[in-house]
Amino acid sequence: MLFSELGLSPEILRAIEEQGYSQPTPIQEKAIPLVLSGRDLLAAAQTGTGKTAAFMLPILERLKKFANTSVSPAMHPIRALVLSPTRELADQIGVNVQTYTKYLPLRATTVFGGVNMDPQTQELRRGVEILIATPGRLLDHIQQKTVQLNKVEVLVLDEGDRMLDMGFIQDIRKIMGMLPKERQTLLFSATFAPEIKRLASDFMRSPQTVEVARQNATNDQVEQLVYQVDSFKKRQLLAHLIRSREMSQVIVFCKTKISADQLSRDLKREGLDAEAIHGDKTQGTRLETLAAFKEGSLRVLVATDVAARGLDISELPYVVNFELPTSPEDYVHRIGRTGRAGAKGVAISLMCPEEGKQHEAIEKLTKQTLTPQSVDGFWPSWQPRPKSAQREPMQREPMPREPMRREPSVPAFSSGKGEGLKQPRQGARRSRKGKREIPALLLPPRYKVEIIR
Ligand code: AMP
Repeated sequence: MLFSELGLSPEILRAIEEQGYSQPTPIQEKAIPLVLSGRDLLAAAQTGTGKTAAFMLPILERLKKFANTSVSPAMHPIRALVLSPTRELADQIGVNVQTYTKYLPLRATTVFGGVNMDPQTQELRRGVEILIATPGRLLDHIQQKTVQLNKVEVLVLDEGDRMLDMGFIQDIRKIMGMLPKERQTLLFSATFAPEIKRLASDFMRSPQTVEVARQNATNDQVEQLVYQVDSFKKRQLLAHLIRSREMSQVIVFCKTKISADQLSRDLKREGLDAEAIHGDKTQGTRLETLAAFKEGSLRVLVATDVAARGLDISELPYVVNFELPTSPEDYVHRIGRTGRAGAKGVAISLMCPEEGKQHEAIEKLTKQTLTPQSVDGFWPSWQPRPKSAQREPMQREPMPREPMRREPSVPAFSSGKGEGLKQPRQGARRSRKGKREIPALLLPPRYKVEIIR
């Protein structure tokens, strides 16, 4: 199918052609005619399927009749409102809208928290037809009376499941109450959780349902691997994988802000170029880090689930779950960061014994079996070792009572003169007693190395 068969105007077709969109994606093929018809729509579309254009292109087509170049704010009331759970997603949608409206005199702006309200207020006072907003900041503007929602014709709730997860339900209900009853509502969500269906039945009028992939399905283009590993070796395994797989770029997911910070620091210490993004970083820092990652100058982006929402990085080859998410839906979201727009990707999950429950929940939700594997040199301590694994190099790794040895990533000889000599001596002494094994490379040549089996 061609975009020109979907009933879009030449101005829109020209803009998307310049973006290199030659053919509509499946969600666009299904959703665009429905949105053009004015129907409410409940769409289950994974990240990376082209869902933004699926709702935005027909919205632009519908708003085209209002396009004008007048300088009067009264001529530019808000006609379409897009609610996004995160600043990053809002920003991403805003960037897309700017490209899609290149040949149409329709104004759009994006407002989100964490940045100064004044420039947003000025933009809003000039008048915009399309407003992309996070719920909290939108309510701030409504309170300041810089936003009027009485002319809104189309409401989009993007990543609806995430909005609910993030506790925006009250804000959403409040905002819904301020919108005209006569409107079109489009709800996009990666999954159709029961709460999403409830939201749809509360706020939508006999919506059409569109699913482009099986509910809660993961993208077939993404190879999914689960590696079982002791939790204290995760960081080491991650560094090993980044290097051995020659990952040009990777997003690494952590469950908490603290672990994201800690991991990015550790990876830096390992000599890997890494930065963390999460909700405690300032908006400026987050956008800067994201920009560096998008342009390819940053290799490893360590992110929490919330901070990674809406990241659109084309051709991202790898995603790593450093910690499995508590909610299995987050797994679907996380691995949706790779394999976007038809490209291939690899999603690797590092799993320790404490994460068995999360692993089970992921398998159940995505209706697939993800058999945990082991990586040479990182054999999990709770698994009996097969013969073939007994001679692997990490078998000769330090015993648990030796923290310095257990973490060879902390450079044993890095901090200089005197200190560097202490460790091999200590290690060698133990070796003679027959209690420890020391990787030969760490020892000065005069020490004898004993390998214990
Ligand atoms: P989304 O799912 O909206 O985040 O889109 C994912 C990526 O696909 C974005 O980089 C879009 O620019 C891109 N995209 C959207 N529609 C198309 C299309 N029809 N052809 C090629 N790329 C597209």
